[in-house]
Amino acid sequence: MSKHKFQTEVSQLLHLISHSLYSHKEIFLRELISNGSDALDKLKYLTLTDDEFKKLNFVPRIDISFDHDNKVLTVADSGIGMNEEDLVENLGTIAKSGTKNFLQMMTGDAKKDAGLIGQFGVGFYSSYMVADKVEVISRKAGEEKAYMWTSDGKGSYEISDAKRDGFGTTVTLHLNDEGTEYASRWQIEGVVKKYSDHVTFPIFLHYEDTAYEGEGDDRKEKKEQKVEQINSASALWKRPKSELTDEDYHEFYKSIGHDTDDPLFYLHTRAEGTQEYTTLFYVPQKAPFDLYHADYKPGVKLYVKRVFITDDDKDLMPTYLRFLRGIIDSEDLPLNISREILQKNRILASIRGSSVKKLLSEFKSIAENNPEKYLDFIKEYNRPLKEGLYSDFANRETLLELVRFKSSEEEGYTSFAAYKERMKEDQKGIYYITGDNEDTLRNSPLLEAYREKGIEVLIMDDEIDEIVIPNVGKYNEIDLKAVNRSGASEDLKTEEDKEKEKEVEPLLKRIKEVLGDRVKDVVASSRLSDSPSCVVADENDPTMQMQQMLKALGQTEVADLKPILEVNPGHEIVKALEGSDDKGLLEDVSFLLYQQALLVEGVALKKPAEFVKRLNRMMAKAL
Ligand code: ADP
Repeated sequence: MSKHKFQTEVSQLLHLISHSLYSHKEIFLRELISNGSDALDKLKYLTLTDDEFKKLNFVPRIDISFDHDNKVLTVADSGIGMNEEDLVENLGTIAKSGTKNFLQMMTGDAKKDAGLIGQFGVGFYSSYMVADKVEVISRKAGEEKAYMWTSDGKGSYEISDAKRDGFGTTVTLHLNDEGTEYASRWQIEGVVKKYSDHVTFPIFLHYEDTAYEGEGDDRKEKKEQKVEQINSASALWKRPKSELTDEDYHEFYKSIGHDTDDPLFYLHTRAEGTQEYTTLFYVPQKAPFDLYHADYKPGVKLYVKRVFITDDDKDLMPTYLRFLRGIIDSEDLPLNISREILQKNRILASIRGSSVKKLLSEFKSIAENNPEKYLDFIKEYNRPLKEGLYSDFANRETLLELVRFKSSEEEGYTSFAAYKERMKEDQKGIYYITGDNEDTLRNSPLLEAYREKGIEVLIMDDEIDEIVIPNVGKYNEIDLKAVNRSGASEDLKTEEDKEKEKEVEPLLKRIKEVLGDRVKDVVASSRLSDSPSCVVADENDPTMQMQQMLKALGQTEVADLKPILEVNPGHEIVKALEGSDDKGLLEDVSFLLYQQALLVEGVALKKPAEFVKRLNRMMAKAL
């Protein structure tokens, strides 16, 4: 037997671990299983590549057993194992840069350091969160002798000769009060399912079952030893695509996506080269119920080398792609990565960046090759994609190709690209109208002149359009122009319009006097044909519908921005009014022109009774 002192850093670390209440102490089991899995990976490689190891009877597995009464938990693997030197090297010093960095961050202030330790995993040493003594019996593959390493984690450890049938490592934890709860079948199963379900090797749990024999008074209790595999042991995403069927992918989706339906589609990619990682993303058929909740649950899980790291990191994917389900599995990230570190991690940022690009181009290719499926996609996710237009500047060009809109000329949905194809030769922009009701928008008098000239207008009835589209401004160098703003109609003006405008000017002045500060201006319109009047927002003001929406959302701060009243100089009502000097008539007609324009835009009148009174007065006159 030989006694050894821990490297100073290890002592520091162990001191910290045993003196701090770790927030997720259960992760000790993940760390031990991950070590076992690594050891199996190493030996597996040798049995495949090295003649000396090819003849070994290698049955890769991890076995967990426990004894609740004696507070013991054991994790054994049939992996590469460690000899005496390895034990000293691996379990007496710290080689990992992650842990060294962690130690450098320590301040010496016990409280702060305890907080820090929770952000890092600390591998094997995390056993000391739940155990006051740990024994490691190991035999290296290809060697005869076995050794036992033991320590109470207080400054030193001992190594002695031992016996072990076969190669591999057995770690035995003598649990402390913090750890006793883990000597339980249900606890172990739960933790393994949560963190290690997709470890590629089978994990077996040994437990004692109580069976009963006989009836009534003769009934006897009988203890039975049972073994059960508790992980699914299949990292599906690690298997080659060629081996997997749609059904395999769908099954897996249901198990991770908490969904009973098949996904709409999936994207499985493997990156090799400077960075090695696998991603498997799914788009659910139906948008997740919490898509528009601020506290939505992210659907993408992070794995490092098949070991689960987190499923609660909203930064793994951009917010607008929060409807995705799936996994990212990196070969390069350290297992002991903390959340705080994750956020700033360059490896992860680059995985995220290229994943987004791949996903968007997959969406695009579905749009091109499978329009029906794309329509299903758009019905659920058009809106999040529009959020992307606003928030993901780097991918704006692609997103502009992906979003869809209703149109005054086309059935269903159309894209900017298709609109561009249909544009008139001298057309000066892509026209759109925003509001919250499709019907109102389609029947808006604002569209009359466009319809007459055969110019298509996009019908944007999603409330997000109003925020996003003006912000985007252009598609392929073509201006996006809102027809419910004052500017857009300039494009439609002919010489004839300008002449009419001059003629009607005195009347417009009189109408403006009547309406006073209810309107910003009264101008001649070139976009009306059947209707006598319409209201539009000043170029930089939010539209009338937008103002209403903000008020409905409880924003009382919204200043009452006044609309511009546009009057149709060619309309018979306007012509008749021009030739009259009846003041009462002028007042009634001015108000009616203004109020009916508001009504067709779906804006509620402040004094409907007044409107009705005027209307009745006019009817009585006419009859
Ligand atoms: P990490 O696993 O992150 O490297 P650990 O502190 O958990 O850090 O383990 C230190 C080293 O000890 C490992 O890198 C490995 O070489 C060795 N080791 C730990 N557990 C086992 C095991 N079950 N079988 C073989 N080697 C092991």
